[in-house]
Amino acid sequence: MSKSRKDRREVQREAVKDAKRRLSVAMRQRGGAPDLPELVESASVIEVIARGTPCVVCGAEVAVVEHEAKTLGGTAVRVVHVKCRMCGVARKTYFQIAAAN
Ligand SMILES: [Zn+2]
Repeated sequence: MSKSRKDRREVQREAVKDAKRRLSVAMRQRGGAPDLPELVESASVIEVIARGTPCVVCGAEVAVVEHEAKTLGGTAVRVVHVKCRMCGVARKTYFQIAAAN
């Protein structure tokens, strides 16, 4: 029936909308944007935290794809690219190593 097909499309569209919403919320939280890095004590915990943060879309486990050191706006940050093992959504998380003093 065409109605059920329409319903399925509706559900799919809702799911995409929901995923986009979750992604944009995550980008406004600490670690989600270059100007909002998560502060860490040392580089060694960065990948542990990145891996331990579930996919913002489906909540599944993520894998670290890449870990790069960058300077953004004069600040040294680490950008960790993660990819969800379940839904495949890729995301970048930002870290800054707190200066020890
Ligand atoms: Zn996912």
